[in-house]
Amino acid sequence: MPDHVLHTLWSWHPMAGITLGRHVFLKKQFQGDRLLLAHELVHVRQMSEMGTLWYLLQYFFLLPLFWSPFRVRVEAEAYAVDAQAGCPIDGDNGLAAKIACWRYGWPCSRQQAADAIRRYMSP
Ligand SMILES: [Zn+2]
Repeated sequence: MPDHVLHTLWSWHPMAGITLGRHVFLKKQFQGDRLLLAHELVHVRQMSEMGTLWYLLQYFFLLPLFWSPFRVRVEAEAYAVDAQAGCPIDGDNGLAAKIACWRYGWPCSRQQAADAIRRYMSP
């Protein structure tokens, strides 16, 4: 698929960054966003620890159909970086709401998502 087609498709998706193994892709308007890069670098480490294929399989295809705690856990760890930098966890625009709004997989409440993020924050 040509590059510009992928860019156009992605521009409709809310995801600002995608990590594949050691490669981090950021949408153009987010390319100077150091906090987003820090978030994606958590995913780089997670993938290197778990193996990229196994990680992506769990994240996108396999378990979300039945069970989303994997996705909640890896995103909570990455969003803890955003929380440490001062982004709000609670509230309608908070980090927990981003995790809880996923519309597939096992439901996760905002409270569960907030608790998961706080577990990964260093004191
Ligand atoms: Zn993420």
